[in-house]
Amino acid sequence: MNIHEYQAKELLSQFGVKVPKGAVAYTAEEAVAAARRLGGPRFVVKAQIHAGGRGKAGGVRLVHSEKEVAEAASALLGKKLVTAQTGPEGREVKRVYVEEASEIARELYLGLVVDRASGRVTLVASTEGGVEVEELAVRAPEKILKAPIDPATGIQPFYARNIAFGLGLSGGQIDGAVRFVTGLYRAFHDLDAALAEINPLVVTEGGDLLALDAKLAFDDNALFRHPEIRELRDEDEEDPLELEASRHALSYVKLDGDIGCMVNGAGLAMATMDIIKLYGGRPANFLDVGGGATRERVAAAFKLILRDPHVEGILVNIFGGIMRCDVIAEGIVGAAREVSLRVPLVVRLQGTNVELGQEALKQSGLPIVTAEDLADAAEKVVRAVKEAR
Ligand code: GDP
Ligand code: MN
Repeated sequence: MNIHEYQAKELLSQFGVKVPKGAVAYTAEEAVAAARRLGGPRFVVKAQIHAGGRGKAGGVRLVHSEKEVAEAASALLGKKLVTAQTGPEGREVKRVYVEEASEIARELYLGLVVDRASGRVTLVASTEGGVEVEELAVRAPEKILKAPIDPATGIQPFYARNIAFGLGLSGGQIDGAVRFVTGLYRAFHDLDAALAEINPLVVTEGGDLLALDAKLAFDDNALFRHPEIRELRDEDEEDPLELEASRHALSYVKLDGDIGCMVNGAGLAMATMDIIKLYGGRPANFLDVGGGATRERVAAAFKLILRDPHVEGILVNIFGGIMRCDVIAEGIVGAAREVSLRVPLVVRLQGTNVELGQEALKQSGLPIVTAEDLADAAEKVVRAVKEAR
């Protein structure tokens, strides 16, 4: 789960990470009131969306008066912001964050990730802040410092000091960096985060270290331990279909192809997407209905696939182990009737009660194409979609 920058800053400050003073606003009036409380004279008005790259896209505005705060807030609120991370459709800005402006001497990068190679939470830092770290990793990998944290000891001052020296900090900034890194690590650890990114971490003209931007992502599997973080969820920022899927406990990821897939088991779902590609098609989604899906859940999954306007064909690939093929078939038939199926449907069933399932599909009178195996199914759905065009 992702949260907004202002929420991340609020959480981090509770762990001793230094952030600029600021307040969130939903209207231009609220933005002005926030600016008045901050005092000024210079402010930054920042679009709050769950995507980076706002600076380059005009979503971060440096202003010099309350009047300009109002103008910046009005210009951002209710508008779609298109950044390198939003995709071409952009995101509507519904909140802005008004902050006291900072005097920046240097922009650095500091992050915490779970590194698969070392199996450790790893500090990542660079003297090149403000730019995209993914791009930096390709262009100048030597400029990225990494420090895997031993889980047995947790964060220790030496980790932070090494990073601080690597970033060219000195004198009192070293102690500041130790506090900063320690706070960031504790927040990451205690809140079960999956990613923390401070980009940029700035050195101010006064020599202080400050998180000018903050991104926190959380491990969904640990959210039950953090009801206060679950509260921060902003459903406006989520894909509507993925949101609907989560309400039915379906594991669904929207993709940009045109063949909708309904599969049981994540591994089989991945294999199904691969084989669709192999036969020249493009999957519209990943969808795992799970091992113990009911007729209702299958129907919900089916409707979800069809709500995507890009879907031109559906491939159902179910291996009935715990799940019985006849239950799947009934779910599909029921849902297909309800939504009046508008695209070709190819079904491959295998496993427990497969004969009963196939019989139910045939009896339905619906134009369902059945397939023998995975390759056969993929070939048929790709062909059916081409023919229907
Ligand atoms: P992002 O583009 O979505 O990552 O948004 P950031 O919060 O990182 O802001 C982008 C850039 O705006 C930063 O790298 C800074 O250069 C600039 N910026 C943000 N806040 C301030 C500020 O208080 N003062 C000044 N001078 N620049 C700022
Ligand atoms: Mn940033």
